[in-house]
Amino acid sequence: MFLDLKNVSFKYKGTDKYVLKDLNISVEKGEIVSIVGLSGSGKSTVLRLIAGLEVPASGSITINNRVVADKNSFVPPEKRKIGMVFQDYALFPHFTVHSNIAFGISNIPKKDRDERVNRLLSLINMNEYKDRYPYQLSGGQQQRVAVARALAPNPYLLLMDEPFSNIDFELKQKMRMEIRCILNAEAVTCIFVTHDKSDIEDMSDRTITITAE
Ligand code: ADP
Ligand code: MG
Repeated sequence: MFLDLKNVSFKYKGTDKYVLKDLNISVEKGEIVSIVGLSGSGKSTVLRLIAGLEVPASGSITINNRVVADKNSFVPPEKRKIGMVFQDYALFPHFTVHSNIAFGISNIPKKDRDERVNRLLSLINMNEYKDRYPYQLSGGQQQRVAVARALAPNPYLLLMDEPFSNIDFELKQKMRMEIRCILNAEAVTCIFVTHDKSDIEDMSDRTITITAE
């Protein structure tokens, strides 16, 4: 298995109620899995644990045969080679659209970098917005930039929290199809949270339901 959560339990600091208890999830390399569940059931928390933004109270998380979190060890988020699209987008406000997308690929030559950013700008239909700042964009446009930024470095694992919730139906359809092709071509494993049946049908191989404790 590419990703394994074994008996993962978690509660937020300063609270005494477990959000997740003995959660087990296994995902194969290249699989695209959707996560559904009621609001507040812990879907975003699962992604945050996999990304390393939260530490499990017990249990273990393994990515690509490497234990990234258990009783004895913890690998920080920046060392996990994970792409993440947050529910609130989390773009860098002082960076343009182009610089936001290029952020994770500053190590590759400028020519290749610009080419890749331009391809992603086409994917999200935003070539003419590349010099704008996030505050000059609508919510849906910001969300599209967040998706492009996460895809840019070819992550092993892509985590997306309701990535299409603010995007118009037609563009969403196009993006889902193209993202699926990109992920399949590179055998990127992807886990995304959604409330939308058509996201599940168009993009995911399988669905996991999170139930509140
Ligand atoms: P979902 O994404 O499924 O809507 P979340 O994972 O965001 O749910 O939240 C799961 C539960 O954890 C909710 O009850 C929420 O109120 C609580 N929670 C989320 N973030 C925090 C936090 N930083 N501190 C305390 N409780 C939190
Ligand atoms: Mg959430």
